[in-house]
Amino acid sequence: MGIISNLAAGLTVIRRSCTRSHRQIIMSRRFHARRTDGVDKNVWVEFTQLAADYKAVNLGQGFPDFSPPPFIQEAFCKAVGGGPPMHQYTRAFGHPPLVKSLAKFFSRIVGHEIDPFEDILVTVGAYQALFCAFQALVDEGDEVIIVEPFFDCYQPMVVMAGGKAVYVPLRPKVEGGAVLSSGDWVLSAEELASKITPHTKAIVINTPNNPLGKVYKTEELQMIADLCIKHDLLCISDEVYEWLTYDGAKHVKIASLPGMWERTITVGSAGKTFSATGWKVGWAISSGHIIKHMKTIHQNTVYHSATAAQEAVAHGFEREYQLFGTPESYFQQLPAMLHHKRKKLASCLESVGLQPIMPEGGYFMIADISSLKVDLNDQSTKDESYDFRFVKWLIKEKGLATIPVSAFYSPEHSKEFDKYIRFCFVKEDSTLEAAENILRKWSQGQ
Ligand code: PMP
Ligand code: GLN
Repeated sequence: MGIISNLAAGLTVIRRSCTRSHRQIIMSRRFHARRTDGVDKNVWVEFTQLAADYKAVNLGQGFPDFSPPPFIQEAFCKAVGGGPPMHQYTRAFGHPPLVKSLAKFFSRIVGHEIDPFEDILVTVGAYQALFCAFQALVDEGDEVIIVEPFFDCYQPMVVMAGGKAVYVPLRPKVEGGAVLSSGDWVLSAEELASKITPHTKAIVINTPNNPLGKVYKTEELQMIADLCIKHDLLCISDEVYEWLTYDGAKHVKIASLPGMWERTITVGSAGKTFSATGWKVGWAISSGHIIKHMKTIHQNTVYHSATAAQEAVAHGFEREYQLFGTPESYFQQLPAMLHHKRKKLASCLESVGLQPIMPEGGYFMIADISSLKVDLNDQSTKDESYDFRFVKWLIKEKGLATIPVSAFYSPEHSKEFDKYIRFCFVKEDSTLEAAENILRKWSQGQ
């Protein structure tokens, strides 16, 4: 009797929970918008969590594990202690001191008089500048050409705007030797031109590029600019790593080329500029007739980013304006510091038999892992691409976190590039050394 009543009670519980989960499935189907379909996976969410779970040495997500420079920290503390206005709303499209200092600073660089109130939108990180650009400028059915490898959020942002992403890859030019530098990865003018249709609205570029580190040369930018002008296209130029170039590579703004100012949206990030990624201050700079539409998206979504952080970034740019081109400028000091870290990481990778592609800019380095033979037969990951499985294995078995490079490719091209993984070198020397120890021990069979 006892057994029977227990069984009956058990069955009731199972029936109830089945009904509940069935109900949840039906509700979840009903209570969601189709624009979230197919864009739910995110490499940063997944791999940052995995790195934390396994307490891995983290050369994965791109953020400095050292403090921002004292001058910017002091500016932030001063802003926070600066009285009530620093804790309240500011102007929606950018705190006035910040848009003024950005306009002053970048007018000199672009060679065009930037209007602080018309031509700039301050956003919640570069992410939101990109989001505003795609939402404000891409219509249902528009095609957006994205150069691969690309920072992963461009594709979902185009899709969420109702557009269609069209891809064109940078290809390694192998001329009688190994591909050793990001400069060896090039964009074919013919291939790019072949992707342009009457539906094309914009071309998206990222220089210095994440994850490759390519810094586009003026001739390459001119080729893209010529196509934009010829076909009346927009150019969205993500330049968040603009100060980080090495070995004489020079960052050029496509907006500074003739005829490009009025059709280019240049995206920047204080997080990358001042090594403070958690502040989430970014901006878009363009002609007022474009920024106007981005403001519409911005005012109806986040309204503005944190006032005190904007105030501090304004001070940072004022300082950099005064020190520009001198050794005291953080825009010289940060790349100088990273130049050493980049070398350190490259020689570590080479010493364990990996072949890194030397980046000309940014703070990432990709390396070919095909020479590493590991058993990746973990059934739970068998449907994933090789680099995803490899990176998961590396985190779990060796305690080292990196990022799979196929995450920066479209599904149609990802297979060709799943033999690379990305290492981030904007890290303390001790972090780089900890990674080196892991790789060295592994290569020695320990
Ligand atoms: N673009 C690129 C190329 C990036 O690597 C990142 C990540 N920092 C972003 C945009 C987003 O920048 P933010 O953190 O300022 O939102
Ligand atoms: N941009 C950073 C990178 O490439 C991270 C972005 C993020 O964590 N969402 O690593």
